[in-house]
Amino acid sequence: MIPQTVTEWLEEETGIQLRPSTARSVSGGCINEAKLAEAEDGSLVFLKFNQRHQLPLFEAEKQSLDLLKATGAIRVPTPYCHAVIGDQAVFAMEGIHMANRSDPDSQEALAAALANLHQSISPSGEFGADFDNYIGATPQPNPWTGSWANFFTEHRLEYQFQLAESRCHKFSDARTLLDAVHSHLSSLDIAPSLLHGDLWGGNASFDDGGVPIFYDPAAYFGDREADVAFTHLFGGFGTGFYEAYRSKFPEVEPVRKTIYNLYHLLNHFNLFGGSYASQAESSIQQILATL
Ligand code: ADP
Repeated sequence: MIPQTVTEWLEEETGIQLRPSTARSVSGGCINEAKLAEAEDGSLVFLKFNQRHQLPLFEAEKQSLDLLKATGAIRVPTPYCHAVIGDQAVFAMEGIHMANRSDPDSQEALAAALANLHQSISPSGEFGADFDNYIGATPQPNPWTGSWANFFTEHRLEYQFQLAESRCHKFSDARTLLDAVHSHLSSLDIAPSLLHGDLWGGNASFDDGGVPIFYDPAAYFGDREADVAFTHLFGGFGTGFYEAYRSKFPEVEPVRKTIYNLYHLLNHFNLFGGSYASQAESSIQQILATL
């Protein structure tokens, strides 16, 4: 059930009148409790709930959705509003009937949409964003930086190594790895593309008409290969997706796939611990053996 305080807030902020009896829980998320409900005009509203101190996650998600939407390159849910209501943080956005599709045409449409997004280049030519956000529940800093090598080593890998150290875990060869990755990335000419930032199979789907939908982003301007690399880590994308994406942009170099996914492995270690440490260690050694 959706509390009356939430329906009143939504109506005040957006004019949307919810039919609370239509609300149903939606599973599949990693962090929040989610509900989909109908409005009086027949449209859908998607609501996320979390503890009140998590409101900044919703603020950051809205900023990411606004940034992606502004490009017109991909379809994302329109974010409406967020607030602390009672003892909960709440985020309301456009609700969409979603259905997964694995047929070749749909995978091709997904790839074309992503390639479109990656053609949106940062206006300043720098890497980062106007706002920081979160990757899962971990803060993700996005200070504007002229060099991708500096941005990725400092604000992605080193940031996660430091988080691990603050939890008393020291990864072997971390300094050597940062130097090697910095020098490798410095040798490349990388464009600052707009990224979804958290693109695994659970964060993309299709609407009723078969249009790809991207949601739950952690957007910033970076190397487009970082987005594509992450699609490989936890799966969810078909071979048709990669074939179609390759017709727009070259395949990700294997060593950079490992470099970019190391960020997510370190983040998973910092969030969940366990075997992610050994996976990250083996990626570190693989990268050092290759560079
Ligand atoms: P979390 O922030 O908890 O990870 P998600 O944003 O991934 O949550 O959403 C959880 C699930 O809800 C998704 O897997 C998807 O199936 C569904 N979903 C996400 N956004 C919408 C939306 N705007 N409308 C309808 N369903 C959605």
